[in-house]
Amino acid sequence: MKILLVEDEPAVVSVILRGLSEAGYEVSVALDGASGLQMALDNPSFRLIILDVMLPGMNGIEVCRSLRKAQVATPILMLTALGTTENIVMGLDSGADDYLVKPFKLQELEARIRSLLRRKGNTADTPVSPALPLSRLRLADLELDTDTKSASRQGKNIQLTATEYRLLEYLLKNPRKVLSRMEILEQVWGIDFNMNTKVVDVYINYLRKKINRHNQPELIQTIVGLGYMLKENNQDEDTH
Ligand code: CA
Repeated sequence: MKILLVEDEPAVVSVILRGLSEAGYEVSVALDGASGLQMALDNPSFRLIILDVMLPGMNGIEVCRSLRKAQVATPILMLTALGTTENIVMGLDSGADDYLVKPFKLQELEARIRSLLRRKGNTADTPVSPALPLSRLRLADLELDTDTKSASRQGKNIQLTATEYRLLEYLLKNPRKVLSRMEILEQVWGIDFNMNTKVVDVYINYLRKKINRHNQPELIQTIVGLGYMLKENNQDEDTH
């Protein structure tokens, strides 16, 4: 399984390289942002990208943004030396799926990698069972095709990141039901590591922006003090 590591500090590179090689991963290294971006764009076989934020020239946030703009959906794990909420949100905002604050233990890095690969487990080179029925999840005019992993509203395609997709899939599988932030966190991000539930609010906002892009009625309702619920907003419905 191929992993791309974009990191400029030789000591960090050698530790990660050794650890991940021992764990059976095939790791390619880029020592600066621009070459990391190029390698990721040229080579679709990477299953995961580990991306440092502080890099010479183009930084990790810019690399991440460029990759998502180019529709590269490979999971990205960001490494940041700056563990403040602002920096973490900026990293996730740029399209990263997860982050790890330096310094970290190799064991933790490996756990995050396994978790990210599990979430994306049914894509790329994993064999898919044949003749799966076409499955669609729908609420009002919002639709998700779980075979092609594509979303649309009023027939218009919506581009989602891997995390946004999983979040929307979970909401659509549990319509008209109050879902707490903790439940969403566990179902969408997994329970094998601790993450602040704030990340749920951040991603709900991303999803809202995307599915309400054409000023459609709000479908993701905030239930104050409890969480969120996916539901038609009757007030906004056409009364014809
Ligand atoms: Ca660095």
